[in-house]
Amino acid sequence: MKCLHCQEEIVAGDPILPFNNGEVAMHRACGLRSIIGSVAHQMKTCSCFVCGSSDGDPEGMTRREAAEAALSLWETTARLRRTAREEEEA
Ligand SMILES: [Zn+2]
Ligand SMILES: [Zn+2]
Repeated sequence: MKCLHCQEEIVAGDPILPFNNGEVAMHRACGLRSIIGSVAHQMKTCSCFVCGSSDGDPEGMTRREAAEAALSLWETTARLRRTAREEEEA
């Protein structure tokens, strides 16, 4: 089965998100990338924030690599937000 987002073959052991009762699937990072947005979107440099800019993935990365990068950036900022909140409450 190929990933809907990056079109790369999904191999056993890859973390995936199934859709349509498992008829189609995406890599976990690829599926979450469509929810959280690209690296450019999270950095607020994409077309949503900067007129004329593109919301594209970074040059030189495959769609899957860009999705993994977007997910790790998102997880990093989520962790920072959590730490800041805990410090406020302490
Ligand atoms: Zn994928
Ligand atoms: Zn955007």
